[in-house]
Amino acid sequence: MTEFGFDTLQIHAGARPDPATGARQVPIYQTTAYVFRDADHAAALFNLQEVGYIYSRLTNPTVAALGERLAALEGGVGAICTSSGHAAQIMALYPLMGPGKNIVSSTRLYGGTITQFTQVFKRFGWSTNFVDTDDLAAVEAAIDENTRAIFCETIANPGGYVTDIPALAKIADKHGIPLVVDNTTATPYLAKPIEMGATLVVHSTTKYLTGNGTVTGGAIIDSGKFNWSNGKFPSLSEPEPAYHGLKFHETFGALAYTFFGIAIGLRDLGMTMNPQAAHYTLMGIETLSLRMDKHVANAQKVAAWLEKHPAVEAVTYPGLDSSPYKERAQRLLPKGAGALFTVALKGGYEACVKLVDSLELFSHVANLGDARSLVIHSASTTHRQLTPEQQKAAGAAPNLVRLSIGIENADDIIADLDQALAKASA
Ligand SMILES: *Cc1c(COP(=O)(O)O)cnc(C)c1O
Repeated sequence: MTEFGFDTLQIHAGARPDPATGARQVPIYQTTAYVFRDADHAAALFNLQEVGYIYSRLTNPTVAALGERLAALEGGVGAICTSSGHAAQIMALYPLMGPGKNIVSSTRLYGGTITQFTQVFKRFGWSTNFVDTDDLAAVEAAIDENTRAIFCETIANPGGYVTDIPALAKIADKHGIPLVVDNTTATPYLAKPIEMGATLVVHSTTKYLTGNGTVTGGAIIDSGKFNWSNGKFPSLSEPEPAYHGLKFHETFGALAYTFFGIAIGLRDLGMTMNPQAAHYTLMGIETLSLRMDKHVANAQKVAAWLEKHPAVEAVTYPGLDSSPYKERAQRLLPKGAGALFTVALKGGYEACVKLVDSLELFSHVANLGDARSLVIHSASTTHRQLTPEQQKAAGAAPNLVRLSIGIENADDIIADLDQALAKASA
């Protein structure tokens, strides 16, 4: 289906009339298990000699339709859908890692991801070398013989920073390790990390892909381009004891990572997306390009207005001339720099809290990428568990408020900010 344009793929990829009923929309296959034709059929499925449905912890037709759609939109060969964005991150790294292994990661990340990479990893014997990804020499210096991936976000949460994915991809290639890109805040409509050289793309489908704040979910999209037999990834290249010594890369080639993610990752870790969630996300994706164009147009207008407001010290939107990432955003995100950014208030922490409490149209929530405009004071919420240094490095300093601009009328969004800023600076 890849010969079609994005608007066509977002509606049709992965979906076909239901073979049993002719249903045009993807049915919600609300079932746990699937009847085997006979004992031989069951054995072939369990041996991975035949592809088919066994049990919904591994695969489900509704979830598979979403995986196929996401793979088409990102330009990958396959996808693994997960129960949340955080599950997708763990699941993405699980086939690559082992005790004593590390990843090199950007410091500019979603707050929960920083916590996962520092606290949770320790319990697996994994570790993270955090670096400023604008310093390419520092990225190279952080890679050692135990590094198994480089990790970054396209537009780094809480907004304003655009990662130079092609530059990081070059370094990853040179060292024989995959580049894993969290493309949640850009979506495949605004950015295609695989075309820029990424090996794996991860998503919190909770955000723009679903687009209406209804369900949590995640996904990993596999470019199918990495050589897993370079000696660093035994899970994918060496005999797998849980499948009678099957070698995933040798057997499945470009689909090795996807098959491993489902046959081992989902089967044994169980971070599975449910078919109801897949349904909501499939619905959301049908209008992704329309929504993203509106998100971007609104964000551009609101950011430009905010920048001129006397109570505002700075606005980090990469679509503004004042942004140090304007040129990079135009080069890597030609359709727009997303709809997530931070505003620094002259009144500091107190003014930020007052602003958040005074906004009426905006919802004060720990979410982003909703049709609704959202606001949060990162330092006192999502990035609260971090040290002041980590908060600053992550772009979540105490005088910053994060805005996720929705698809309402831009004038109404601006009017709400206007009345709240008047109260915050009174
Ligand atoms: C929300 C988010 C996550 C975590 O996703 P969940 O679905 O909430 O688990 C990871 N990365 C980014 C960039 C996010 O915005």
